[in-house]
Amino acid sequence: MKKRLLAGVLDRSGLLRAVEALPGRARLVAFNYHRIGDDRDSPYDPGLWSADAESFAAQVRFLKQHFDVVLPEQLDDVAARGRGRFAMITFDDGYRDNHDVAFPILRAENVPATFFVATGYIDAPRVPWWDEIAWMLHRSRKSSLELKPFLPEPLDIGAPNRGRALTTLLRTYKSLAQERTDEYVAAIAHASGSGRHPAAGAETFWMNWDMLRAMSCAGMTIGGHTVNHPVLSQMDKISQQREITLCVDRLKSELGRPVRSFSYPVGARTCFNQDTRDCLRDAGVDFAFTYYGGYSRPAGWDPYDIPRIAIEPYVDTHWFRAMAQLPEVFA
Ligand SMILES: [Zn+2]
Repeated sequence: MKKRLLAGVLDRSGLLRAVEALPGRARLVAFNYHRIGDDRDSPYDPGLWSADAESFAAQVRFLKQHFDVVLPEQLDDVAARGRGRFAMITFDDGYRDNHDVAFPILRAENVPATFFVATGYIDAPRVPWWDEIAWMLHRSRKSSLELKPFLPEPLDIGAPNRGRALTTLLRTYKSLAQERTDEYVAAIAHASGSGRHPAAGAETFWMNWDMLRAMSCAGMTIGGHTVNHPVLSQMDKISQQREITLCVDRLKSELGRPVRSFSYPVGARTCFNQDTRDCLRDAGVDFAFTYYGGYSRPAGWDPYDIPRIAIEPYVDTHWFRAMAQLPEVFA
């Protein structure tokens, strides 16, 4: 809240622009989005609606005006240059609105972006675990959920606490060993009385290969985000290798291009480990992106830990500009 107020003051007073004019070493601010649009009527995870179309267009125009907006393929060049202000626009997961809403805006502004997709959802469309859990809560008539042994106490899911309950349920999923996650989702389906999300209805969730090819041909980069979107660090190395290699191979065969970039599902520091890095290197991936905030200095960066800033609906214009122009304080 304080940062938000400070961002407003700095932006309105012109100080952010003044800071931008100061010379400095090269730096990269990478922004990450999930969905573009309006969440008001959606039963799915509200946290993934990053911006509406109008705000997204304004953010794209701002970055175009003040930064070199680059793709992962250009990061070797960025590192070689000592100076400059670089930005990246990235998307995770592969939602259909990326093609239908974000892509036309990017194309109209002639700004490149990178889309990290989970290939299993493209090949066999289904509702992902985070959206399915949100949907179960949304449908439930219960006021609390009994989820032993996953949660020690009943979880209050009454209307005022539903947002917090969803955060708890998703955080618990991320903490589980991969082989227990099915049992966990089934337990929520049962306890909520909502059952599992029907298979129908998922067809229009994701982009398809024709859409991704069109975006790739138009100068966008398509990167890897695994096959099934697991938390990689919760898997053994062989399973991680399968998730990474099959994803990269699938993208190569559908798009006819090498795949050099990847983003970690969930993206916290704890969501990948040395096995993940080894598997990425073996698969020919040169840059991997996280999702815990921050910016990077290309001199001496870790190419398998390039930070990205989350864009969420509560990020207003001033805050966005502050994160871009003064990431040392705001990102
Ligand atoms: Zn993701």
